[in-house]
Amino acid sequence: MSGRAPAQPSARPSIQPPAAGAESSSVRPPRLYIVLTRVPRRSALAVGSLGTVTLDRGWYAYVGSAARARDARVARHLACEKPIRWHADYLFTAFPAERAWLVDGASGECALAGALAALPGAERLPRRFGAGDCRCSGHLVHFTRRPLRRDLAVAALAAGAPPRGAVRSFAARPASS
Ligand SMILES: [Zn+2]
Repeated sequence: MSGRAPAQPSARPSIQPPAAGAESSSVRPPRLYIVLTRVPRRSALAVGSLGTVTLDRGWYAYVGSAARARDARVARHLACEKPIRWHADYLFTAFPAERAWLVDGASGECALAGALAALPGAERLPRRFGAGDCRCSGHLVHFTRRPLRRDLAVAALAAGAPPRGAVRSFAARPASS
């Protein structure tokens, strides 16, 4: 009679070692960032290829990625004067960015934007903002209240980031002299 055998640790499958060459693959978590700004009142804003969009008042978190020179990219978003190149440039020129965070370990900017939009009081608006190179709903997330670092950490975790240390404040340097 074959009753259920007691579980034995030795019966658990062992973790397979990574296949040869895996460590040299280029699959690395993208280097993401979040830039926050506030729109004090309902506003119309011309955003290049998107046309004129209406921004409700509130807080906006923009999710981006930079494979290289991420700090310089984030600093650029925080700078007021710059050539207009991306959708985000229209936003942060009209409504200067207030602060930023670096996010590591999440699966991608689309996933992180989606996870932010799943937070209470959040929604991806305007649609397709910053999403010129992908097919997602957009990389700008509107919040009715100011999102806190812990909110961002919850979203990063939902997007695949580790539970600790994934979200770091970006230390803005004073304007260069
Ligand atoms: Zn996307």
